[in-house]
Amino acid sequence: MVSFKELGLVNTREMFAKAIKGGYAIPAFNFNNMEQLQAIIKAAAETKSPVILQVSKGARNYANQTLLRYMAQGAVEYAKELGWEHPQICLHLDHGDSFELCKSCVDFGFSSVMIDASSLPYEENIALTKKVVDYAHQFDVTVEAELGVLAGVEDEVASEVSHYTKPEEVVDFATRTGCDSLAISIGTSHGAYKFTPEQCTRDPKTGRLVPPPLAFDVLDAVMEKLPGFPIVLHGSSSVPQEYVDMINKYGGKLPDAVGIPEEQLRKAAKSAVCKINIDSDSRLAFTAAVRKVFAEKPAEFDPRKYCGPARDLMTELYKHKIINVLGSDGKAE
Ligand SMILES: [Zn+2]
Repeated sequence: MVSFKELGLVNTREMFAKAIKGGYAIPAFNFNNMEQLQAIIKAAAETKSPVILQVSKGARNYANQTLLRYMAQGAVEYAKELGWEHPQICLHLDHGDSFELCKSCVDFGFSSVMIDASSLPYEENIALTKKVVDYAHQFDVTVEAELGVLAGVEDEVASEVSHYTKPEEVVDFATRTGCDSLAISIGTSHGAYKFTPEQCTRDPKTGRLVPPPLAFDVLDAVMEKLPGFPIVLHGSSSVPQEYVDMINKYGGKLPDAVGIPEEQLRKAAKSAVCKINIDSDSRLAFTAAVRKVFAEKPAEFDPRKYCGPARDLMTELYKHKIINVLGSDGKAE
């Protein structure tokens, strides 16, 4: 058993309280390799932004749990070396699907875990979430839970609304589980294809797809029921068209990839939404930069020569999100 505190990490409690008060959101960036981690830490250190390093079950298997623990500890030390005096870095499990996985992460030094039992019936979601909360809180590890299904608007129109979080459930759920934050479903969605072309309109000028707006009425209703409670948005990549274009230009094939417009996320960040998850955007930046090198310099075979530019482009992306979308810069001196 290793405590996150020994690794120099922090949980989300204080970051979220400050973010809600201050009208900004904390970035939660997924990572699974060294270059992504370097880019996240560099961006956070240079902007003095609290940051959540997010690891999914798959990423944890990919990177190895023991290595991850030391990478997180290394990230804190690297941040200090970059001149960030008091780094506020959280290591968070994204979409934990069982008590055992959450427990294992708590035991391995994570400072925060998500238990996603949102696909289970309501009472089972409560029971499993409470079990994780009871374990994690013994070690001061914070817990994110989820209500509502994030399939977004992928399915038939008729079932759209029932996928959204039901505001009438949130008080009962938060009270009975004791969770520290709640991921809700208001129309965001995972991946680089968040909406089908049929769900979008097309901008006549650019020919680009314009996605349907987020359900801010659901968010407002949730905030009214749970004033000041930390809300989380998953699936909040914007799928920057410049990266999609770059990928397609250099041999890739991502037709009609579409994400959440940044102005909607900016609006959400000012509310009780205090954690915004971004994964696909950094995958796109990484892939775009690597493809460019491969296309322009086919003789190149030193991974540093293509992972390096990928790291630079991701750093730029993370800083842009922190400063221009989430507003978390300068919040952790
Ligand atoms: Zn998610």
